[in-house]
Amino acid sequence: MFSEFDLDKRLLKAVDKLGFEKPTPVQTATIPPALAHKDLLVSSETGSGKTAAFLLPTLHQMLVKAAPETGSRMLILLPTRELARQVMKHFKQLAAFTHLKFALICGGETFKFQRAMFRKNPEVIIATPGRLLEHIEHGTPDFEALEFLILDEADRMLDMGLSEDVLKIVSCCNVDRQTLLFSATLNHRGLSKMMAGMLREPEAIRLNSVRDRHQNIRQQIIVADDSLHKGRLTDWLLSNETFDKAMIFTNTRIQADKLGSYLRSRGQRMGVLHGDLEQDERNRIMQLLRQGIINVLVATDVAARGIDVKGVDLVINFDMARSGKEHVHRIGRTGRAGEEGLAICLISPQEWNLMSSVGRYLRIDFEQRMIESQLGKYKGPHKVKASGKAAGTKKEKEKDREKKERQKKKGKEVKIKQRHRDKKNIGKRRKPTVQIEDKPTPSGFKPLMKKK
Ligand code: AMP
Repeated sequence: MFSEFDLDKRLLKAVDKLGFEKPTPVQTATIPPALAHKDLLVSSETGSGKTAAFLLPTLHQMLVKAAPETGSRMLILLPTRELARQVMKHFKQLAAFTHLKFALICGGETFKFQRAMFRKNPEVIIATPGRLLEHIEHGTPDFEALEFLILDEADRMLDMGLSEDVLKIVSCCNVDRQTLLFSATLNHRGLSKMMAGMLREPEAIRLNSVRDRHQNIRQQIIVADDSLHKGRLTDWLLSNETFDKAMIFTNTRIQADKLGSYLRSRGQRMGVLHGDLEQDERNRIMQLLRQGIINVLVATDVAARGIDVKGVDLVINFDMARSGKEHVHRIGRTGRAGEEGLAICLISPQEWNLMSSVGRYLRIDFEQRMIESQLGKYKGPHKVKASGKAAGTKKEKEKDREKKERQKKKGKEVKIKQRHRDKKNIGKRRKPTVQIEDKPTPSGFKPLMKKK
């Protein structure tokens, strides 16, 4: 029960209004030490309820302590605009019955307007590092009285090359602050370097390793010949599965656009979200999805990172995620806060081994599913190794080579394959129309000559 945390009444009222009955594991583990003003290092995923886990204890402390004269009291740094908006939304809900104000500072919005927002002295700044740093360079925000610094999705900030910006921002912050760092994993290579000197005797809270999450999500694979076949499968799934909202992931922006046009032509109510789109367009698409005007979103990983849309119960990986971590982020769009979800990966022959490595790493037993009306030529590898990877290809090549060598030894003529590319152009070469004297120059290039 939330009431056991001894939080300010106004916050408990907001929690009640949101309908949160009991705290999630990350909230149970984080709220008490955060209320005790400890620095924390928390490994937890989006979808676990971590936003409330850092907002509730910090907002509580801000409500019970008198405010300093000037400057912001809390800074929340996030890697992407979408995440920043999401935190803003959650802040508005949790601080609904308080006087606390916020400013959202991220790229894609007018600089002047944001500068004016700083002048109103909002208690909470929710920002992405790049734009905030621009403001710092213009001397606008003042973090000398900062009481709380939150770094959310720290591993992602590192992956996106934002660590230098983050360090510069942190160096402008009050040293006597409480710092809470959230990351999908605490074992990220660059994390300890970035954290050095940033946190004071932090308590590490390791909740759910990437491997043992998402028990409530069914994970299936469907093999496919190529991207055209995958397109037909996707259309079939969207037309035959029962779902409220679906997200489809592609590895590239081009593929997202291509698939988007195809699905639109098939009459699906869908939108495309990727990094090439203007911020206004991205916001519009997210709004359409939230309102249910569209129910399918085709997205690339970066654009979809951390997006929290209620009711996503189907995820289709049109392209297999390139790593286990990315796979977890994608399927984390469904099955949020304990709901049931279905995640389907479409696997081409080239993606089989990647899929089996991701499955092994995350200990997922993918269920192989076949759709009778949509079967292609590829049915999966003939044989698989103990690791789950396709067996045979290397060995077959070796056997072939050995056979050829044996034939050579026996004196049999080895048939050499005649390739079209070796035959073409033979006898067709044109003579140059102008004869140029062939004098090499010191630089190795022929000089340009006038036509005679
Ligand atoms: P987050 O991990 O912060 O992105 O939260 C994921 C979703 O879980 C959000 O939609 C929250 O509103 C929801 N949520 C957070 N805490 C709880 C809770 N204690 N009970 C039910 N839902 C929650």
